[in-house]
Amino acid sequence: MPCLNCGSAVTCEAHIIPKKGAREIIKRSTRKTLSLLAPNRVHNFMQSGFVDNEILCSRCDGVLGVYDNHATQILRLLGTEHEVIDRQANRFKITRGKGVNHEHLALFGAAVVWRTSVSKYRELAEFTLGNNEAWMRKIVFRQSNEIPTVLVARLVGRTALTHEAAMTALMYPVRIKMRGIWVARFYFGGLIFFVQTTRAADASLCADAVTTFGRSAGPACLAGVLYRFEELADLRQVRQSKHVQQVLARRDGAFNI
Ligand SMILES: [Zn+2]
Repeated sequence: MPCLNCGSAVTCEAHIIPKKGAREIIKRSTRKTLSLLAPNRVHNFMQSGFVDNEILCSRCDGVLGVYDNHATQILRLLGTEHEVIDRQANRFKITRGKGVNHEHLALFGAAVVWRTSVSKYRELAEFTLGNNEAWMRKIVFRQSNEIPTVLVARLVGRTALTHEAAMTALMYPVRIKMRGIWVARFYFGGLIFFVQTTRAADASLCADAVTTFGRSAGPACLAGVLYRFEELADLRQVRQSKHVQQVLARRDGAFNI
């Protein structure tokens, strides 16, 4: 298949979730080297290494790579001295010396969702943007000036162990309703992205988006709310991810949530 953006006949291995981000998650879960390309076939939702070599040429992949890299740079600041988690206020704040590009974080969320939608990978087939696929493509490749409505939250655990496990959560987009609006939600190593997948602007979601509330602590900061790992509706599935499993396995059954 030619590149789905520009039509170039030569396509490349495009990651659905950026490889560097997935590596960061693996680094947290184990000291051993794990192959990114060895998906756990039993739990199809949570592979870290999906590449699709039929969706993008290397030039178009590189356009989205800018957003992937920025999101990965932010991901690396989680759990470091650059991050403040205020559990009482239910807020987190990440400060990056070189600044945070909130638009790029929104475009990263949209790019993951678009790549998942267009991928013909069997395990990702359930997720589709349907009629909004072309709209989202124009946004992520900047053929439209629109910035997608994307919310970024922080997944935190109640205990040290579940907090560590939350940092390794990885799940591909699923469609859910948030405040009555369809969004795609995915987990990216301690961050949760909610990407609005319908076109009508929603004032409530816009107010909490990464480009508004996310920027409220200044251009060098990413601000957002906390989500409890233990309270995730799909906790059972998240726990089945091999990286989360590895963290939890250290307690060897002594731990139940
Ligand atoms: Zn292309």
